[in-house]
Amino acid sequence: MLRLTELKLPLDHPPAALRAAILQRLQLTDDALAGFSIFKRSHDARKKHALLLVYTVDLEVRNEAALLQKFRNDRHLTPAPDMAYRFAGHAQEPLVERPIVVGFGPCGIFAALVLAQMGFKPIVLERGKAVRERTHDTWGLWRKHVLNPESNVQFGEGGAGTFSDGKLYSQIKDPRYLGRKVLTEFVKAGAPEEILYVSKPHIGTFRLVGMVEAMRHEIEALGGEIRFEQRVTDVLIEDGADGTKRIVGVVLASGEILKSRHAVLALGHSARDTFEMLHARGVTMEAKPFSIGVRIEHPQSLIDKARLGPNAGNPLLGAADYKLVHHARNGRAVYSFCMCPGGTVVAATSEPGCVVTNGMSQYSRNERNANAGIVVGITPEDFPGDGPLAGIELQRELEARAFELGGGNYDAPGQLVGDFLEGRPSTRLGSVEPSYKPGVHLTDLATALPDYAIEAIREALPAFDQQIKGFAMKDAVLTGVETRTSSPVRITRGDDFQSANVKGLYPAGEGAGYAGGILSAGVDGIKVAEAVARDMLGLQAAESGARSGPGCDY
Ligand SMILES: Cc1cc2nc3c(=O)[nH]c(=O)nc-3n(C[C@H](O)[C@H](O)[C@H](O)COP(=O)(O)OP(=O)(O)OC[C@H]3O[C@@H](n4cnc5c(N)ncnc54)[C@H](O)[C@@H]3O)c2cc1C
Repeated sequence: MLRLTELKLPLDHPPAALRAAILQRLQLTDDALAGFSIFKRSHDARKKHALLLVYTVDLEVRNEAALLQKFRNDRHLTPAPDMAYRFAGHAQEPLVERPIVVGFGPCGIFAALVLAQMGFKPIVLERGKAVRERTHDTWGLWRKHVLNPESNVQFGEGGAGTFSDGKLYSQIKDPRYLGRKVLTEFVKAGAPEEILYVSKPHIGTFRLVGMVEAMRHEIEALGGEIRFEQRVTDVLIEDGADGTKRIVGVVLASGEILKSRHAVLALGHSARDTFEMLHARGVTMEAKPFSIGVRIEHPQSLIDKARLGPNAGNPLLGAADYKLVHHARNGRAVYSFCMCPGGTVVAATSEPGCVVTNGMSQYSRNERNANAGIVVGITPEDFPGDGPLAGIELQRELEARAFELGGGNYDAPGQLVGDFLEGRPSTRLGSVEPSYKPGVHLTDLATALPDYAIEAIREALPAFDQQIKGFAMKDAVLTGVETRTSSPVRITRGDDFQSANVKGLYPAGEGAGYAGGILSAGVDGIKVAEAVARDMLGLQAAESGARSGPGCDY
């Protein structure tokens, strides 16, 4: 297989033009090209006129060696890399032990799937409900102001990413193409095939629901077991003769004990009670940086016009996105986070008496507004106290304040950008209707965040307007608060992917501080499944698991 890069075609080219362009570029006759597949398709959004699609294609040609020789000085034609996924090993029957996976978000799903594919028949424990029942509960908050603390946007089958935009990209280094394994499994589970090659793939909420169910069925078909409404409330740790600690089981809220010497903790960033329990049990963890801010909403048409110019509205390009960064004079970095083109702002709390915003969209991305978090990076020095859990304390404080500012009924506090910049409370909406449900309570957001964050965001919005004309339009709406951007803690791992001080415990994914989005959480789940398998099979570790993961990277 050969790979050809930088093949450029006009935006509106007919499908057959791609094959013709390959033949022409490589001076091949039609019968010499046995087949091809698109590996990547992107476009340069900065070139608003005469926009080109840029393809990377993998080719099956009759005489590879001769073609490579002919184009030996052409860096755009190379042998295609081997991206096939290879399992770390396979379980021997009968199984001595079944590994436990706590949490069934992207990290837990991929940990369980790969363990199941290797024959280890994992037992998955998920505190929330199966995805369809969970959808019902989530709508309870959005429509009726009723929060179910165990079944919501953060907790339940599919994890935090289920009600999302389903953006599937990450900045992680991925030399083993594990991201490809994640995307391929998603396609098998019903995602559109284009996620394998478009430069910024997304799935949208509606499709994610069906995909998550399909992946659950595959794990079960391979002998795995998935139990919903099973919250892990304790871990059983034994002291070994040599002074090492080892997990030997977990305790469920029902009091049931499940024994295993291998447990993956794929908890997500909102499992505050579980973090507290692990801290009380002496599991090593530390406070880590995350970001806080607000969510902004503009008309999607404004973003499309600014980003795509005359190509705005082209179905191949879809609704336009953006990624913005501003370094404020007070030393804070302000950046856009989880931008959702044509989407809605969602109520994303998992704790009573708190308001948290986030964003989601459907695959079509055809809602009237664009939204994104506008967030400020903070570090443990900004936290109100010391200790590993101090970031959680700050999140809780800000979320409770937002609840109060929003009127105490899960409405989000909101303010127009014009009023926010002028420092006065908003009293009525302008041309932009906010999408947050159950509702938006107009107020002054100045006290919703620490002063340094408000100051930095006030400076950033006009700076962003220089890049996207209209970004600081006075009618754009801010809602808050955005606090669940990534985990406030890291559950420290050693090189073998196991907890720094408890053997057999595998902290994984976003909650443990080793991922920052759906794709990176899935990749971490695969790595941890491999580490569990190696340990159970007595094999050497193949790579280090101690490196910390990305913050929010989508
Ligand atoms: C509204 C929203 C939109 C998002 N949009 C995107 C996006 O477009 N692209 C992107 O890449 N990322 C997005 N994210 C972030 C993404 O969802 C997370 O990064 C990802 O889900 C992290 O995966 P995870 O498996 O590590 O944790 P999670 O998905 O949080 O899953 C953890 C699971 O563990 C369970 N759990 C916790 N404690 C226990 C316990 N004690 N016992 C049993 N079960 C427990 C929880 O119920 C949960 O289901 C979004 C998040 C939200 C909330």
